[in-house]
Amino acid sequence: MLSDRILNMGISKTLEMTAKARKLKELGYNVINLSVGEPDFFPPSFILKAAKKAIDKGYHNYTPISGDLELKKMICKKFKRDNNLNYSNSQILISNGVKQSIINLFLALLNKNDEVIIPAPYWVSYYEMVKFCQAKPIIIPTTIKSNFKITSKQLKNVITSKTKIFIFNSPCNPTGCVYSKKELKTLVKILSKNPKIIIISDEIYEYIIYEKKHISIASFSEIYNQTVTLNGLSKSFSMTGWRVGYLGGPEWLTQACEKIQGQTTSCVNSIAQRASIVALKYNQKKILKKILNSFKKRRNLIITFFKEIPTLKFKSPDGAFYLFIDLSFFLKKNQSSNNFSMHLLNKYFVATVSGESFGSKNGLRISYASSKKNLFEALFRIKKFLNELLNSSYMYH
Ligand code: GLU
Repeated sequence: MLSDRILNMGISKTLEMTAKARKLKELGYNVINLSVGEPDFFPPSFILKAAKKAIDKGYHNYTPISGDLELKKMICKKFKRDNNLNYSNSQILISNGVKQSIINLFLALLNKNDEVIIPAPYWVSYYEMVKFCQAKPIIIPTTIKSNFKITSKQLKNVITSKTKIFIFNSPCNPTGCVYSKKELKTLVKILSKNPKIIIISDEIYEYIIYEKKHISIASFSEIYNQTVTLNGLSKSFSMTGWRVGYLGGPEWLTQACEKIQGQTTSCVNSIAQRASIVALKYNQKKILKKILNSFKKRRNLIITFFKEIPTLKFKSPDGAFYLFIDLSFFLKKNQSSNNFSMHLLNKYFVATVSGESFGSKNGLRISYASSKKNLFEALFRIKKFLNELLNSSYMYH
């Protein structure tokens, strides 16, 4: 018999939709997968070369649990260079993607019924991981009107004596919202008055940002000691399968996470770690300029398309590579966007992720990390589907 913990756990919708799309593809259907957040570029060649060199040079053994020392040093440099954050080697832990960093932190910090504040829409796994640790997700809802951002008042209102963690994600998956310095300051004011709350700042989309500037919340000195900054190589270097994530944070907490890794996964793949050293060596903004331009063009393309459908509401994303649209107009009362995304996949072969698992039941996430050709075709099919809905009784209106 399975544990209650696992029976109560939902399946990752992002990965489930990807698996469904893959299956249909294998059956011969022409599926366009806009579900998973996975760049379609090749990692830069100098990173691939470094990985090959590491194989030939014999980096085949376990690294220290917390990571290859050279990589940890490079991560410290990166944090200083790009985020104005001072971390020493002992504050760094390298994990199998940011995902493992997050579960490490939750396992290290949460007791039963502790509360974790999560702004919604949120990335699917935050919620399920909190539940998995028998803690309580406390959701702060946001809307298109508020640009999907929470206010300090909202934050203040949900803090209780049981609040243990505030999870923060800017640029945000799935909404693409990016907090400005001024907005961060208002949140910092509240958080600094509650020094027992640990802030987990997931900055995996740091470099996929268009008009705005990324600011690490830990760079506000008032909250540095209560903040953990997470990042990784998956999104910026198109290295999703390499599984390299890392965190910088208070030493006591980093050590607790290290203890968990020591008993569970030992360390991250040694070759991937060696390659990551060269990836982080250079100013990433320069390396990623071309990729960022492509993402921007794709974002503009998809936005121009959806602007022509006034019944679909959305906010143009400032970062990441997702568009989160409000489907309310097309849904029957009490119906979630699950049916919508399943129909879109099964009949029109376009994979997306419904908003329900992001904590927004009328929403739909579309990843535009796909070629222009794919996007054009997908948008054409989506339009066809919307026309079908307008002419059928499926709609509430
Ligand atoms: N983070 C990506 C996404 O949201 C990858 C899949 C996952 O781990 O959820 O699509």
